[in-house]
Amino acid sequence: MRHAGPVVLGLDVGGSSVKHLLAPALASMDAPPTPLARGRHSTPKAAPVEGLSAIVDSLRGDADLERVVLSIPGLVDEAEGVVVRSTNIPSLDGRPLGAQLSAALGVPVDVINDGHAAAVAEASWGAGAGIDDVFVLALGTGIAGAHVAHGRVVPGAHGSAGELGHITIEPDGHVCSCGRRGCLETIIGAPALRRAWAEAGGAGGPEKLLAASSAGDAAAKAIVERASSALAEAILTLCALVDPGCIVIGGGLAQAPHELVTLAARYVGARASFHRVPPIVPATLGEWAGVNGTVLTALRRQHALV
Ligand SMILES: [Zn+2]
Repeated sequence: MRHAGPVVLGLDVGGSSVKHLLAPALASMDAPPTPLARGRHSTPKAAPVEGLSAIVDSLRGDADLERVVLSIPGLVDEAEGVVVRSTNIPSLDGRPLGAQLSAALGVPVDVINDGHAAAVAEASWGAGAGIDDVFVLALGTGIAGAHVAHGRVVPGAHGSAGELGHITIEPDGHVCSCGRRGCLETIIGAPALRRAWAEAGGAGGPEKLLAASSAGDAAAKAIVERASSALAEAILTLCALVDPGCIVIGGGLAQAPHELVTLAARYVGARASFHRVPPIVPATLGEWAGVNGTVLTALRRQHALV
């Protein structure tokens, strides 16, 4: 789309697709900008720099592109723009992606973690908007968490804060992907729900489990209640440690009708002691949270706020 002024481009690079969002560089940061363009492409896994450069070139046209921000699934050195490790896109491992793309495109390119991007967007423009201290959780295959204070992710000393999925719930429980036993993920992660549902004789994945629970199936309800109960324990630990002003829960397992979220919130309310229980709400930006976070990061850097 033609736009007279300068623009910024956000790319949410996933394991199978790349979402893009083009926005005016001078857009307000108070709310999501009206996109000049928005869409998705296949992820160029084999030759990521050439493929991502081609995507950017096809989108910029003759616009005055001032900055690109990409989000990547995996461990990212955000200060250096280096992808340390990406399980979904191994060809990016160890790559100074920011510098390589910047050299190819002739504009500044920043690289950030995809979970951080989505968390910043939900905290600033989504369900946490207007609250200074927000904890964002994503329920999916794994459980990612990020504490966003005053619009910025609090990364911890080593960039690994917020791993709520690996809080121990059952010390003698199932072995987790991290090697320990009984982590929250072994009860409420998508593979755990799939296994529990199969053991109960159910067919299909976690979506079918949640649908059966909503429809009143007793076995499905029991699994969902156990998962929500575990999530509630993790949230109480989170409240004790972080005391967030709002907890936003997104990801594939938190979609409407939000049964896991509402049930966990009810358990948290019933079990809280000294804890100050904040609003526990579903995410609102859905699958576009990540790319919104890249654009917000680009706007902030253009506005020289970070
Ligand atoms: Zn674990």
